[in-house]
Amino acid sequence: MATLRRTVATAAVALTGAVAFSSAPAVSSAAPVGSAPSAASTSSYLPGSLDKAQNARLQAALDQAIARAEKNAASGAKKPGTQAAAVIYYDDSNAPTYDSLIDQSAAIWNARVTSVKLVERDGSATLKYYEGTDQGSYYQGRGRGDGLIFIDHAQANQYAPLRIVAHETGHALGLPDRYTQPCSKLMSGGGPGTSCTNPYPDSVEASEVNTLWN
Ligand SMILES: [Zn+2]
Repeated sequence: MATLRRTVATAAVALTGAVAFSSAPAVSSAAPVGSAPSAASTSSYLPGSLDKAQNARLQAALDQAIARAEKNAASGAKKPGTQAAAVIYYDDSNAPTYDSLIDQSAAIWNARVTSVKLVERDGSATLKYYEGTDQGSYYQGRGRGDGLIFIDHAQANQYAPLRIVAHETGHALGLPDRYTQPCSKLMSGGGPGTSCTNPYPDSVEASEVNTLWN
């Protein structure tokens, strides 16, 4: 039923219009990213065949950011965390069921990272949340505070919904899936099973986001 997912994802992209992928990140030193993903390229809460291309891009961008940070640290060229946080505006008006969870997720991330800040701005945002029925929840975008997050009703009834929202938001901040990691990792997503409710990124995941956005 990959066709169904593509159809829904394409419809969501159409709703977001040009804003979804064309807005430049609100930082001067943007991490190198690949071209905009195809409509079928997503990072989901559970492992799936559609994950691979986008996750590979996110991992490559993260590897480049870490290498750049190490190079900067070695040369003393740039001190990490010395610039103002990049603001990511999000719109949750199309996911009313999860409105408060989306705001909680933003607060969780904002309390743990210093290089980026999630701010709600319905009607004029680069990151948009949607809800509905599909094959699962997913993120689609470049991992630069852009694109869309889709929350699947059935999955959110089975797995902890705040963890789903925070996990997908982690993709929008640039992190790839790591399904085989433990529940203490947010980006393990649905890998540890339905009993895992942890909605918090650990210190390594938070540090990776800071590196990506510095
Ligand atoms: Zn995921």
